[in-house]
Amino acid sequence: MWRSKYDMDADAFAGDVDRLWGEVKPLYDALQCHVRAKLNESYGDEVVPLDQAIPAHLLGNMWAQSWGNVYDKVAPEGTAPAYDLTALLAEKNYSELDMVKTAEGFFTSVGFDPLPETFYERSLFLKPEDRDVVCHASAWNLNDIDDIRIKMCIKVDAEDFQTIHHEIGHNIYQRAYSVQDPLFRNDPNDGFHEAIGDMIALSITPDYLQQIGLLEDLPPAEADLGILLRQALDKVAFLPFGLMVDKWRWQVFSGELTPDSYNDGWWKLREQYQGVRAPNDRPADAFDPGAKFHIPGNTPYMRYFLSHIFQFQFQKAACDLAGWEGPLHRCSIYGNEAVGEKFNEMLEMGASKPWQDALAAFTGKSEADATAILAYFAPLKEWLDEQNADRECGW
Ligand SMILES: [Zn+2]
Repeated sequence: MWRSKYDMDADAFAGDVDRLWGEVKPLYDALQCHVRAKLNESYGDEVVPLDQAIPAHLLGNMWAQSWGNVYDKVAPEGTAPAYDLTALLAEKNYSELDMVKTAEGFFTSVGFDPLPETFYERSLFLKPEDRDVVCHASAWNLNDIDDIRIKMCIKVDAEDFQTIHHEIGHNIYQRAYSVQDPLFRNDPNDGFHEAIGDMIALSITPDYLQQIGLLEDLPPAEADLGILLRQALDKVAFLPFGLMVDKWRWQVFSGELTPDSYNDGWWKLREQYQGVRAPNDRPADAFDPGAKFHIPGNTPYMRYFLSHIFQFQFQKAACDLAGWEGPLHRCSIYGNEAVGEKFNEMLEMGASKPWQDALAAFTGKSEADATAILAYFAPLKEWLDEQNADRECGW
């Protein structure tokens, strides 16, 4: 049933995600190999043997699903990101409201209507002092028409600058498909919503920051390596985790895994796909998958794998439409109304058509395609291959 919601045969869907994984695996393997080698330099052969999967507790995230926190350990000299967006925001005295207005400005620059006044009256931007709230950022459409709002405790930093572009992306999508009948006011598959928000955040490039007056001089292309590596530690490192969570649940649902093999089956997939392993021997009664919210929360997870593929596919299509000829990671669609118009065609379809049709309306292709994420990270892949040239990769 979980595999049945993708406008294709349920088993064909399983085959399709395997195909996508096969396409991105060489990029992931190169990243894993480099990160393992650098962690080995920090912790030594005993903790990080070079022929085994990486102990999961060394990757700076409780689930080893995003590795941005080990950036300092894996980035060699000279690849530090060329600018610090958090510092730029502080320099220009950005307020929380400036952050929101800037993100709104991105969408109006590509032709979307301004956000309604009620957005500003009813959203939560600041952490209230008198009560507890759930600060995890989210985007809502309260009347399913145009009562769009975000709920977020904005901090003036680089991460929240991205997040706010992402959240307002959800709002723009919600408002766009409100032209549909109520049942179709949704995304056509559950990977789309997150992909739309993330795709917009991919347009936060040095060019964009310069155009909106945050960055003065454009850094040279060589300086991009640090930025790309930092992004890959989140977006590429995530891919096999995004895949294996539901691989595990499909095995649980089918009976292939039984309660006494739940935990071993979990770590088997972690090792197989992610090349990470349990930090110590797990006791017989351990249930480590339960530490991931979506498992007890019973929330499907393949959507996150898909959104990590789709966001780059959307971005590549947008940049092709814009006639962009430089490296894909430098492309921003800021200010391009022609792209915005075509983008809106996909958004306003909502769930009224199969996702393949919505995808084709914007990208011209009706298949998920991982070549765009490979193109985006191509300069990084080249660098990783150089770093790994004398290393034995694999586990
Ligand atoms: Zn989101």
